Amino acid sequence: MNLPDLKKAKVRSNEEVKTIKATNLKSNKFAGKKYYLRTYGCQMNVHDSEEIKGILSNLGFISTENYEDADIIVLNTCAIRENAHDKVFGFLGRVKHLKKEKPELIVAVGGCMPQQEGVANTLKEKYPFVNIVFGTHNINDLGKMIMEGSNKQDIEVYSIEGDIYEEIQYKRDSKYEAWVNIMYGCDKFCTYCIVPYTRGKQRSRAMNDILEEVKDLKKKGYLEVTLLGQNVNAYGKDLKQGYDFATLLEEVAKIGIPRVRFVTSHPWDFTDEMIEVIAKYENIMPYIHLPLQSGSSKILKLMGRRYTKEEYLTLYNKIKERIPGVSITTDIIVGFPNETDEDFQETLDVVNKCKFDGAFTFIYSPREGTPAALIKDNIASEVKEERLQTLNTIINDYSLEHNKEYVGKTVKVLITGYSDKGVDKVCGYTETMKLVNISGAKEDIGKIVEVKITEAKSFSLDGEKIIFSNI
Ligand code: SF4
Repeated sequence: MNLPDLKKAKVRSNEEVKTIKATNLKSNKFAGKKYYLRTYGCQMNVHDSEEIKGILSNLGFISTENYEDADIIVLNTCAIRENAHDKVFGFLGRVKHLKKEKPELIVAVGGCMPQQEGVANTLKEKYPFVNIVFGTHNINDLGKMIMEGSNKQDIEVYSIEGDIYEEIQYKRDSKYEAWVNIMYGCDKFCTYCIVPYTRGKQRSRAMNDILEEVKDLKKKGYLEVTLLGQNVNAYGKDLKQGYDFATLLEEVAKIGIPRVRFVTSHPWDFTDEMIEVIAKYENIMPYIHLPLQSGSSKILKLMGRRYTKEEYLTLYNKIKERIPGVSITTDIIVGFPNETDEDFQETLDVVNKCKFDGAFTFIYSPREGTPAALIKDNIASEVKEERLQTLNTIINDYSLEHNKEYVGKTVKVLITGYSDKGVDKVCGYTETMKLVNISGAKEDIGKIVEVKITEAKSFSLDGEKIIFSNI
């Protein structure tokens, strides 16, 4: 499977990227018919699925949790790891049987996977019952593709970035916390990462469009917005309008939504101005996800991460000093090609110095078409497993240590839903992004509640509700 070579592809300059109004087709043609949508991968995909749900609802579809009941099945796929592909192909095997019983069933596959060159053809050849294939850049066309013909293979995938659509009618999953895309794609080209190939180069939305969206969310009563992008703190660099992420963050904070978050930031783009803005505004949450990836400067260079171990530590310490009580989580990959025991010890050294609140840890696996895939994957799988286990034990210990500091304290928690810890339990997040379970009921969901923490675990806290808070 190959990936488009972005250096050879006709990539449009940022001046050529147009901002256009989303189509938002409306029709009764599918009134009462059911859709089943399955989302794989990251938060970006989860938010894209809110756009897909909006498109399907506008055509009259209603949702179902059971794919066998559906009149249309839409898979919003991920390309970040090989097993994400396997899951999609495995599920399509089941859909194939269903399609034999229900030939009128529409099957659509979209998202990151089809952006990879060859995948659309694989789908056409091996899964000819798939009606529609769409990419990450033409989600807006899905409604038209469904309306125009649901019984032919209709391949429409862009391999390079498309225009920016405004006025998208999302069907948001929540009425109190919302994702707001501030940019699309990524220009960093970390050597192991497939995102710049599947989502294209960075295109930032105009600041005014973002602010209008946030104002509208405030009017609708949303309590939390998360500014979303692959590399949010590079925001604006492509626009050359004189504003950057620090400017945007400050303007969003001024709108007055009680909680403002952002994800994900790259250490290389983390400016002093950003730190000052986060420190200045109470409604910018003291939580930062700051991917480390490796603690070895040698491996960071091979990964194309643009910072050294020392630079990461300097940034980390600066953030901790300027933003009291901030919690910081990270991403770490173990077993990158040529990672020696000494390199891994460097990673552990950073972990021990930073004592992260939490981390997403991964074993390296090559993604075909990325520069890193050309380096021999020369770390034995047992060694990778062992390193992951060692790392996870240390990370979990620090996580528990941080969580224990909360016991006896009163914190504000936005209750987001029912907890899986029991029928009479609800859960939500502190300002520092700690998961809290409390006894509660339906009426607590969607409120910011004051909670006294009674018990700490590695991945969550238990607490008791004290009073409702209006902020
Ligand atoms: S910054 Fe993130 S999304 Fe961009 S290439 Fe690097 S890892 Fe991928």
